[in-house]
Amino acid sequence: MNFASIDVLILDVDGVLTDGTIVTTADGDGARRFNVQDGCALKLWQRCGGKVAIISGRGGEAVTRRADELGIDWVHTGISEKLPVYEAILAEAGCTDEAVAYLGDDLPDLPPLARAGFPVAVADAVPVVKRASSYVTRRRGGCGAVAEVIELLLRKKKRWSRALLSQV
Ligand SMILES: [Mg+2]
Repeated sequence: MNFASIDVLILDVDGVLTDGTIVTTADGDGARRFNVQDGCALKLWQRCGGKVAIISGRGGEAVTRRADELGIDWVHTGISEKLPVYEAILAEAGCTDEAVAYLGDDLPDLPPLARAGFPVAVADAVPVVKRASSYVTRRRGGCGAVAEVIELLLRKKKRWSRALLSQV
């Protein structure tokens, strides 16, 4: 595994950036809970030159608003089949599978996980997703799993210490 080549982080949303809970609201747009530590880590990753994409099977205003706040490079919502979108992101990024870390928790994530250079499952992913991944986070989806992966990647790339200093 060549961690130095990982530049693009592709994330599922429900169950990865959130704990998978969707609170049904009157307007029909489900409310989500995002983790602030994941948000800080994503900013750090971007400051280190990393790119971020989200591919959500659902989406909604809460998801696009959070993606806006975080300055996510590629936002794809309402996606029933994730692999074509995964391939489109790689084409736009001008990179290959080896440059991609993909984080997922559930069955729709299996096709992109099978392609990504670094396939990752969150701690509470379904068992088949964990088996398809080369790393399973200690933290659960929506509870800092994304931050954990970013720290791991930046440490492996020898960028972590310098990245922390650049925050101040
Ligand atoms: Mg999910």
